[in-house]
Amino acid sequence: MKKQWLKYLDRQAPRYTSYPSALRFDGSVDAALYSEKLRAVDLYEPLSIYVHIPFCRQLCWYCGCNMRVENNYDRVRAYVDALLDEICIVGGVVGGKGRIANVHFGGGTPNILVADDLACILDAIERELGLTDDARLAIELDPRLMRKGDARMLAELGFDRMSLGVQDFDIGVQWAINRMQRFEMVAECVSDMREAGVDDISFDLLYGLPKQTPQSFSDAIDKAISLAPDRFAVFGYAHLPRMIPRQRMICDDELPGVEMRAELAALADERLAAAGYLQIGFDHYARPGNALAAAMGEGRLHRNFQGFTDDVAETTIGFGASAISFVHGVYAQNDKDIGDYQRKIAARTLPVARGIMRTARDERCAAAITRLLCDFETDLGAMFELTPEAEQRRIDQALAALERDDVIRRRGAVLRINDGARSLCRVVAASIDPWAHTAQKATRETAKAV
Ligand code: SF4
Repeated sequence: MKKQWLKYLDRQAPRYTSYPSALRFDGSVDAALYSEKLRAVDLYEPLSIYVHIPFCRQLCWYCGCNMRVENNYDRVRAYVDALLDEICIVGGVVGGKGRIANVHFGGGTPNILVADDLACILDAIERELGLTDDARLAIELDPRLMRKGDARMLAELGFDRMSLGVQDFDIGVQWAINRMQRFEMVAECVSDMREAGVDDISFDLLYGLPKQTPQSFSDAIDKAISLAPDRFAVFGYAHLPRMIPRQRMICDDELPGVEMRAELAALADERLAAAGYLQIGFDHYARPGNALAAAMGEGRLHRNFQGFTDDVAETTIGFGASAISFVHGVYAQNDKDIGDYQRKIAARTLPVARGIMRTARDERCAAAITRLLCDFETDLGAMFELTPEAEQRRIDQALAALERDDVIRRRGAVLRINDGARSLCRVVAASIDPWAHTAQKATRETAKAV
């Protein structure tokens, strides 16, 4: 990494899984506005469905997700009942329009659910929103909860994309984050998934964890590569102990410093490239034949709450506590508190707590930033048409500094991130984002540049 780039490593920048980022969500979006947008869904509009399962068996100390440790399945079942009711309420509003392209179960730990409950949720989606065989079904899985036969059961339910939370294979790192999972356990999961015919398996890896060193992470990456998943997502751990109390269990002085974080990220880049994976956006990697790689090759790569995706649907309908929907320019987030969420559902109201309606200017910023993050190149022309002159001057100055530091090159309104500087692309995105100054402080919605 060039010396002049080091100053960018510690910068906070939004994750840009939505635009505007959730930092700008407020009470201006309510159930009435969300219903109005749902009613306006077109007959054949592609839809993405997200189902949030906010329960886990055990707490990982690094976790920043909206989750709760739950060992009483009756309470999980009560939540599933609320989900079924929410699907029914939303289905009534949408009125049979739209066509589901993707369904994604995230968490928490979706595989805490027993097969019957997963089947009930899928049945409800099919009945209320019309699930066809063409839709892709994805699920995030905790390998520690996978039992022999689970992969086959999930495949029989229709899940054809499975993502395993791996994070790191080093025992010392696993102790330091309270997530013990043997390599052999993950290997067995992968073998069961392959046997069940799953041809899109993804691993999540995390760098920046306590006790990680370039040697330990390099070994972990090599072990992960030996299991030949189809994709990787390699995220940087965001340490926010003041905001996320569970992270106080992690010792600050065991965390790698910013320069070592950059070294760990670069290691993942190098090792995965050497193993034949293509870099997708700034933190995903896929085998050349994978759907994500095809989407990138054809300029169809997109970014949403799941990160980089080949999902064709702009419209996302989220179910469950804290789930975020995006329908016709409106983001609507459900109550984060599981109890509040269930109470609203019991009262037959949509559990919308906050959100934001995109302005025309937001639309153009969103388009410019999405292309930048997906293609490392973007045209600011359309965005500048709606950007006040003073703001344009600020953006020009910020870009000139990045150009001097050899992070980007610019020709008129088109800017491109230089090859070695791709890991800094959220810093570049923040420099063209008129709202990013509100994200300079560390929050759940931002993360260190690298
Ligand atoms: S399994 Fe995932 S969601 Fe649950 S505590 Fe661990 S990191 Fe968080």
